[in-house]
Amino acid sequence: MQFISKKARAVTPYTAGEQPRGAQFIKLNTNENPYPPSPRVKAVLDAFDPAGLRRYPDPASGRLRAAIAQAEGVSPDCVFCGNGSDEVLALCFPAFFGADEPACFPAVTYTFYDVFAHLFDVPFARVPMREEFYLDLDRLADTPCKGYLIANPNAPTGVGIGREEMAAFLARVPEKLVILDEAYMDFFGQSCAPLIKTCRNLLVVKTFSKSYALAGIRCGYALGDPALIDALTRAKDCFNSYPVDALCEAVCAAAVLDRDYYAGTLARVREERERLRGELLALGFTVPESAANFLFAGRFKADGGTLYRYLKEHGILVRFWDKPFLRDFVRITVGTREENDALLAALRALAAG
Ligand code: PMP
Repeated sequence: MQFISKKARAVTPYTAGEQPRGAQFIKLNTNENPYPPSPRVKAVLDAFDPAGLRRYPDPASGRLRAAIAQAEGVSPDCVFCGNGSDEVLALCFPAFFGADEPACFPAVTYTFYDVFAHLFDVPFARVPMREEFYLDLDRLADTPCKGYLIANPNAPTGVGIGREEMAAFLARVPEKLVILDEAYMDFFGQSCAPLIKTCRNLLVVKTFSKSYALAGIRCGYALGDPALIDALTRAKDCFNSYPVDALCEAVCAAAVLDRDYYAGTLARVREERERLRGELLALGFTVPESAANFLFAGRFKADGGTLYRYLKEHGILVRFWDKPFLRDFVRITVGTREENDALLAALRALAAG
C-alpha cells in the first residue's frame, strides 16, 4: 500500500513470546517470574487514589528514580526510567549510535538489538561466539565500533560473565560505550551497576519484569554517568514525555525497596534452576550453565521445533527460534517446582517413547 513507509515495509519486527489468554498452559516461554510480586505492590494498589490519574505523571519519574537510586546505591541523576527495558534499549540507539557510529553485539544474543538497529539505521557488527555458547570478549574488544550491546547473562543461552571479567573488558575499551543489558542479572548477582561510578563508558540496563515479577507493569531503567542519562532523556523527550505512568511509578518505587522479599524470590528461582538443569542433563540434554531464570536446552532426541510442538501438545509452552544454531534448542523458563516437574514428566515420556 502506497501509504506505508519504505522503512515500515522493510523492517522485520521482533516477535514476542506467545501470551495465550484463557488457555491453560504451563507457561515457561517468556521468562516471567513464577512467584508473585512483593506484597507491598498490593498495598500500593489498594491505597492508590484514581483521582490522581487526572493529571499527567511526573515526566522525570523523580520518585521512582530516587527509590531505584537508593536500592542501587547511586545518585538519582544516574538513573533513567522507561516503559520496560525494551524501550530503554530502543532509546539507546538514537541516543548513542548513528549512521556512521556503528554498534556491535555478539552473534548469539537478544534478537531485539538488530531490530532496533535496523529501525534506527544503525550499522552493526556481530561477533562470533567462542565454543558456541560463550561471548568472545577479545574479539568484541578488537571489533571497530562506537559501542556495544551485551546481554549479561546472555539471552537465550543464560551464560553469565562475572563482574571482574566484565570490569577488565570495560577497561580495555575506554573509548567505546558498553551497554550491559542486565535483564537477568539479579539471578546471577554479579551486576556491574557499582562500576558506573568509575567507568564513564558503562550503561547498565535493568528491568522490573523478571526478578521483581512485574512484567505486566512495564518498567525498566538504565544506570550510568549523568551525561549518558541526559542523552537518554533527550531521546525520550523526542518521543514520549511520559513513558512511566503514575501507577507504574508508585508500584515500582515500592517493589524496588522490598529487598528481603526480592532476595527470597531470587533464591527460590536459583534453587529450582539448578535442580531442573541437573534433571535435564541426566536425561541427556545439552544445557549450558545458566546464570539467569531460564535454561537453554537441546540436542536431545529431536530438534528444538519438534520439542516445542511436543511440549505444546502436552500443555507446556517453551520458546523456540527457527534460526541457525538456535533451532537445535528450546529456552525453558524456570517455573515453580510443580511446573518444572510437569515439564520433566513430559520429557521423560518422550525419552521413553
Ligand atoms: N533484555 C533481554 C535480554 C530480555 O530477554 C528482555 C525480555 N524479553 C528484555 C531485555 C526486555 O524486558 P522488558 O521490556 O520486559 O523490561
